[in-house]
Amino acid sequence: DVQLSNRVQAIKPSPTLAVTNKAAELRAAGHDIIGLGAGEPDFDTPDHIKTAAIEAIKAGQTKYTAVDGTPGLKKAIIEKFKRDNGLNYEPNQILVSSGGKQSFFNLALATLNAGDEAIIPAPYWVSYPDMVLVAEGKPVIIETSAETRFKITPEQLENAITERTRLFVINSPSNPSGMAYSLDELKAIGEVLKKHPQVMVATDDMYEPILWTGQPFCNILNATPELYDRTFVLNGVSKAYSMTGWRIGYAAGPAKIIGSMKKIQSQSTSNPASISQAAAQAALEGPQECVGEMVKAFKERHDYLVDALNKIQGVECLKGDGTFYAFPSFQGAIDARENIESDVELAEMLLKEAGVALVPGSAFGAPGHMRLSFATSMENLQNAIERLQKALG
Ligand code: PLP
Repeated sequence: DVQLSNRVQAIKPSPTLAVTNKAAELRAAGHDIIGLGAGEPDFDTPDHIKTAAIEAIKAGQTKYTAVDGTPGLKKAIIEKFKRDNGLNYEPNQILVSSGGKQSFFNLALATLNAGDEAIIPAPYWVSYPDMVLVAEGKPVIIETSAETRFKITPEQLENAITERTRLFVINSPSNPSGMAYSLDELKAIGEVLKKHPQVMVATDDMYEPILWTGQPFCNILNATPELYDRTFVLNGVSKAYSMTGWRIGYAAGPAKIIGSMKKIQSQSTSNPASISQAAAQAALEGPQECVGEMVKAFKERHDYLVDALNKIQGVECLKGDGTFYAFPSFQGAIDARENIESDVELAEMLLKEAGVALVPGSAFGAPGHMRLSFATSMENLQNAIERLQKALG
């Protein structure tokens, strides 16, 4: 037998990608499947962004760039932080990577030693714990429930922090819960973090503009500026501009660690694609109306979907603050069935019998729930609801 590293044996393939693939397989085999598993907007990348990429190709921007990103894109990112977030960074505090996923991966590799603890609130983006494990760190999960709108309390954070804690991850608005922390909630969490200087903070702002609380977007640095020297802001163009395939994410933080992350990237993937960087620069510098239009569509679908889910027996869904996910409890539906023991089994049943692909909450550390992506047409959502009603009603 070929020997595998402990590192790779500690992790599993991304379950969200697995559901999407499974749905695609069934569809290819002739089954009629409605996919609500996808983690990407269903809109096309806006035209002015595509044009910028085509122009970049024509202008010969087809070679290696600086590992940490082109000067033009880094400038656009620095201006974005100033304009949208009131945060100031120098060029050596910015690292552009091949997607937000690589930004977090670089961060985990640059900051964690074997056994170092990384605190991750559940439900979490599926990749955080596995990336921490690849870095030989120890994921420490804080569980939440619908009672606190899937948000952690300052007390929970205080109790989770130990001398070995190196990293605390916060994602708001959240994939998969759709919930966002208020400025006051972040301030209370910031007060706890202030007391523990050994803890670095990663705020994953990937869904920043997809928000409808009526309050402006805020992150932990807006709430607690004192954490600036140990906080990493992770963001990207994937979700905001419907650019998941272009693979551009970026990180901002203390220059020394950003420099270490750059060193890791220089020995793994080098620069992100030159053409994608030109497109991302156009996205950040160009007109922002395209973002608002997508958010408006997501909000309409959200309102329809949450309402319709709550009418299905055994399903309970909170209204979300943003993103394009609903995260209802299906515990009632699970309990009502003798042959179904878990959300995973229910998701399998719904895929086979109802032709609806959902991601079970266990994948996000919250069993009993399902994640439904509403990055799909209203018609698909209505059909999916009809099928769920029939299967569960
Ligand atoms: N962060 C969160 C919370 C996400 O949901 C995702 C994508 O699903 C990412 C980061 C990574 O995005 P990408 O690597 O596609 O830029």
